[in-house]
Amino acid sequence: MGAERRDFVVAGSGAGGAAAAARLVAGGARVLLVEEGPLARPAGDAFEAVQRYYADGGLRAALGDGLLPIPTGRTVGGTTTINSGTCLRTPADALARWEGASGGAFSASSFSRLVEEAWRALKAKTAPAETMTASSRLFLKGLERLGIPGGHNLDRAEDGCVGSGLCCFVCPKDAKMTSYKAFLAGLEGNARFELRSGTSLVAVEAGAGGVRVRLRGGAEVRAEGLVLACGTTATPYFVRKFRLGPDWRGAGAGLSVHPAAKVFGLFDEEVEGRKGVPQGAGVVDPEDPAIRYEGVYVPPEMSAMTVPLEGRGLKRWMDAKPRVATFGFMIRDESRGRVDHPLGAAHPVARYRMSPRDYARMVRGARFTARAFLAAGARRVLLPFNIEANEAADERGLAALPLEAAGPAALQMMAFHPLGTCGLGRVAGWDQSAGPGVTIADGSVVPESLGVNPQVTIAAFGLRAAESLLGVRA
Ligand SMILES: Cc1cc2nc3c(=O)[nH]c(=O)nc-3n(C[C@H](O)[C@H](O)[C@H](O)COP(=O)(O)OP(=O)(O)OC[C@H]3O[C@@H](n4cnc5c(N)ncnc54)[C@H](O)[C@@H]3O)c2cc1C
Ligand code: SF4
Repeated sequence: MGAERRDFVVAGSGAGGAAAAARLVAGGARVLLVEEGPLARPAGDAFEAVQRYYADGGLRAALGDGLLPIPTGRTVGGTTTINSGTCLRTPADALARWEGASGGAFSASSFSRLVEEAWRALKAKTAPAETMTASSRLFLKGLERLGIPGGHNLDRAEDGCVGSGLCCFVCPKDAKMTSYKAFLAGLEGNARFELRSGTSLVAVEAGAGGVRVRLRGGAEVRAEGLVLACGTTATPYFVRKFRLGPDWRGAGAGLSVHPAAKVFGLFDEEVEGRKGVPQGAGVVDPEDPAIRYEGVYVPPEMSAMTVPLEGRGLKRWMDAKPRVATFGFMIRDESRGRVDHPLGAAHPVARYRMSPRDYARMVRGARFTARAFLAAGARRVLLPFNIEANEAADERGLAALPLEAAGPAALQMMAFHPLGTCGLGRVAGWDQSAGPGVTIADGSVVPESLGVNPQVTIAAFGLRAAESLLGVRA
């Protein structure tokens, strides 16, 4: 059987790939969008959703100081299908740095226009007060009592959210604006567009005459160009394996992750965890803008594995679960890791070690969150460190916890925002190209740790990739 033909193949339907595919179709191109994962449907419970729609059943992790989970989506819509929906614009200082570093090849104002376009497509809007979780209300109350300004409701990608608390486990109301809903749903029936889910890109041959790609199962497709949008942990595999672009050797390095953790607070009143928007409120640290506090919610079926306790201590907190509030924080990291693929694209091996300065920020973030809960009336707070003394009942007890000495290996954290493994100007060109015929449009091109939740920025990179390809065609 001969190769199929399209104008463009897009691999990966997440924040970057979906935006790129939609813009290419709108520009008149015939596009095949290949997605490794299946179409998501609301699952029976959170655990089942993780098994079905997270890469490696949610067990993807970086090695280093300890085990650092890096959850990513493996489904139509990519990680946007299982994300919290928070929308933040690309920070202006980052845009200015990129423009300066690119020698004019990256335009901050053009990119801002695409950020606004992504914002509109995602229907980003401020979470209404009535969908605020009890945890968020308590955290904001604590800030107020401490005299810390700036707590606010976050902007979110949603259309009809009723606050059912399951954003990270496939929205049961189909209200969250995933990249599928924002960019692809409207293309159903369009003869120039095909979404092929449940199959994956396996090989690439690229040259001046176009690209030839092979999919799992053996199908071959010829196209003018390939848009690589398999995500920060998979895209560098293709760049290195098939030597795409002059700087392919650097692919996989430069991994930033926004390390994140959460604090538990035990209150007298009931805290109805699932009711509300889990990540509906937040604040930037008043003294260190590299630390950002955002709401979080862990469903009961997953709680036990996220509490840094065992035995009787664990039982005590689990028994009190209805009265336990949770709030999270993340940092703009200066540490960098890398991703390698000794077992192929689908099995990334990530490494990441935390610098002392990043660790100090994580300690500050944990104490700050705990202080807010105590100020709001928490009886006890539980901090995300696997050490014996990780609970406190008041400010003095909190100050006495030996967190500084514990070290990153004791910190129970996660990494929700892997970025940078094919950074602009380092592996990808400033126009996102990786050699003739190949353009990268996912989190891997983000050239530094952003410090804000990245889906809007990545979608803008998707639109930018498509605009540059359409420009090349015209
Ligand atoms: C639990 C969680 C909560 C989050 N919350 C937020 C939030 O509130 N706000 C925010 O801005 N960001 C959030 N994020 C992060 C954000 O969703 C991601 O940064 C973003 O979706 C990444 O976009 P991407 O295009 O780089 O990759 P992805 O969205 O991960 O998409 C990559 C896609 O490529 C597919 N793929 C991989 N390999 C292949 C292959 N060989 N062939 C074909 N397809 C392939 C994958 O299956 C996947 O669907 C969250 C992340 C997590 C895990
Ligand atoms: S809070 Fe509920 S309805 Fe709103 S986006 Fe999240 S899962 Fe959907």
